[in-house]
Amino acid sequence: MFLGDSSLKALLESGILQQHVSLASYTTWRVGGPAQWLAEPNDSSQFLSLLQWAKQEGLTTRVIGAGSNLLIADAGLPGLTLCMRRLQGSELDAESGLVKAWAGEPLPTLSRRAARLGLHGLEWAVGIPGTVGGAAVMNAGAQGGSTAECLASVEVIDLLDPDTLKTTTTLNNADLSYDYRQSDLQSSKQLVIAANFQLEAGHDAKDLKRTTSGNLSHRTTTQPYQWPSCGSVFRNPEPEKAGRLIEDLGLKGRRIGGAEISPVHANFIVNVGGATADDIRNLIDLVQNEVDRVHGISLHTEVKRLGFQATD
Ligand SMILES: Cc1cc2nc3c(=O)[nH]c(=O)nc-3n(C[C@H](O)[C@H](O)[C@H](O)COP(=O)(O)OP(=O)(O)OC[C@H]3O[C@@H](n4cnc5c(N)ncnc54)[C@H](O)[C@@H]3O)c2cc1C
Repeated sequence: MFLGDSSLKALLESGILQQHVSLASYTTWRVGGPAQWLAEPNDSSQFLSLLQWAKQEGLTTRVIGAGSNLLIADAGLPGLTLCMRRLQGSELDAESGLVKAWAGEPLPTLSRRAARLGLHGLEWAVGIPGTVGGAAVMNAGAQGGSTAECLASVEVIDLLDPDTLKTTTTLNNADLSYDYRQSDLQSSKQLVIAANFQLEAGHDAKDLKRTTSGNLSHRTTTQPYQWPSCGSVFRNPEPEKAGRLIEDLGLKGRRIGGAEISPVHANFIVNVGGATADDIRNLIDLVQNEVDRVHGISLHTEVKRLGFQATD
């Protein structure tokens, strides 16, 4: 698919493709500098055209979902940033439990739709403000459930394979080496365009809705939901809990600039106003250094960093 001048003009005029756009409103931390190019395709054909165009122009391409697990550098991102959040929609089969969702479908929407149809398996996902694509990459999970437990396969586009820039490949769950908040998709150049789930059909919709509501209210009462954050910043160094280690060091409430270790939940860093990505990064470094110094434990971030030299 070739993106000619007229198609490029149409994408620019419709606002699907923009230049020099601040990414702060594309992350739940509300920080991040400008994207050289930002695109929000509405369908898979626009998505493929944009990939082809970036390739022709020699631009680096990155994909983001809802930006709910991302720290984007204040300097911003060169190349093309493709935001998937408009690529929404899902098809659910109440009989078989098969569910197909586009990468940009919000997880809470999918969780609620499944519960309404008596499909069990996604009740844990109702309070996670990410997209289906981000969940497949991160193996998002909560309340004992995880993406890997109900995901059957993903449809991907491989950036490294020029032939497949026109079409998608299906990767099965077993191909993705799923583990706690881990998958092979995190280190690959494969972009998730859709995901297929196998849920359990025939459950009582009222019971499932009760569970999703309970899960949501548990989260809003135990986590600082009213502040911009990225959820848990650090992976739990099992059997320890990152939040417990940070709290034991008396770091709750510690601030750098506008970034604060939440007094409500020590594994959350919240933006209390005007935080920069550097404030957050410096607070992450402070926590890692203190936990290492006192407990001898290396804390690794669950949050992904984009645009920082050492980790990008
Ligand atoms: C208040 C709050 C609570 C949270 N609670 C939880 C929780 O309980 N459990 C949990 O696991 N997480 C939680 N999170 C973190 C986050 O919501 C999840 O990690 C989520 O899965 C990220 O999805 P996203 O669409 O926002 O991905 P992004 O943050 O946009 O991206 C995350 C990574 O996935 C990549 N990516 C995104 N979409 C695609 C795609 N389509 N193809 C290829 N790569 C892609 C990005 O490049 C990046 O590396 C929470 C976050 C917040 C703000």
